[in-house]
Amino acid sequence: MLRPALVLALIVLSACRETKPHVREFSGATAFGYIETQVAFGPRIPGSEAHRRAGAWLDSLLRQRADTLITQAWTHVTTSGDSLPLTNFVARFKPAASKRLLFLAHWDSRPRADSPTSTDSTKPVPGANDGGSGVALLLGVADVLKRTPPAIGVDLLFVDGEDYGDFTKTPQDVLIGSRYYAAHQPPGSQSLYAVLFDLIADKDLQIFEEGNSLVGAPEVVELVWNTAKELGYAGTFVANPKHTLIDDHLELQKVGIRAIDVVDFDYPWWHTKDDTIDKVSGASLQIVGDVATALVRREE
Ligand SMILES: [Zn+2]
Repeated sequence: MLRPALVLALIVLSACRETKPHVREFSGATAFGYIETQVAFGPRIPGSEAHRRAGAWLDSLLRQRADTLITQAWTHVTTSGDSLPLTNFVARFKPAASKRLLFLAHWDSRPRADSPTSTDSTKPVPGANDGGSGVALLLGVADVLKRTPPAIGVDLLFVDGEDYGDFTKTPQDVLIGSRYYAAHQPPGSQSLYAVLFDLIADKDLQIFEEGNSLVGAPEVVELVWNTAKELGYAGTFVANPKHTLIDDHLELQKVGIRAIDVVDFDYPWWHTKDDTIDKVSGASLQIVGDVATALVRREE
C-alpha cells in the first residue's frame, strides 16, 4: 500500500513528465558552423580539390558520430565523356534495427551559376544554401543522435553528384548519387520513409509542400508538416503546395521508398554566384533541425 504522501509525489512526478518542456536537442548555431566550413573549402565540384577535402572532412566527422559509416565510391562518366570520382556517405545509427528512417542531402555543389537570373554563368555556385544547408542539417542530426542514441534506426545519406549537369539536357549527369544509392541500398536499410533536405537555411525561410512529394508520399508530407505545426513552426512549414521539383527524392521513389522533399525553393540566389554565407542563418537551421529531431523521437 502506498502512503498518501508518496501517492501525491507520484502524481506530481507523472504530471511533470506529461508537461515537461520541449528539450531542444539540435543546435542551429553548430549547424551554421558546418555551412561555414563547407563554404571555406570552396565549391564542392566533383573532381576538384575542394570536393576531395570536403569528402575527407565528412568521412572523419561521420566516423566519430555514427555507429557505422558506409562509403559508396564509383566513377561516373558524363554525357560529354568526363570521368567524375563520386562518393556517397551513409552514416548509420542502430544499423540492426528494423524500424528505420532515412534522411538525405546532396553534398556536391554546382559547377556553373547558370540560373536564368545569373549575372555570370562561368562562375561556380558557392553552395551555402544549395547543398551546404542540407549537409549542415544532417551533421547537426548526427550530433544529436551521437549524444542521445535513437531507439530506432536512422540512416543519414549524403549523396554526391546531384547538381553536376543540366537537368533537362543531360539528365544522366544530375541526381547521380541518389540514383546510385537506389540501385545499391545497404542490406537492412529499408526505411519507413525518407526525407530529402535542401535549401533549408535561407534567412527568409518558408517551406511549402512540394508537388512530387504529395504525389509519391502524401502521408509523409502530412506527418512532417504536422510535426512542424506541433512544434509551433506552422508559419515556416506552410501547409500548402507551391513548387514541383525534379530532385533526389524522385530517384528513391522509383525504387519504392516513401521519399519527400523539404525545400524552400523561393531563394533568389539559387544557382547564382551569390548563394553565399550571408544569405543563410542558424535560426532557420534550428527550425528544420528541431523538426528532423522530432521525427526521430516520435517513432521511438
Ligand atoms: Zn542546385
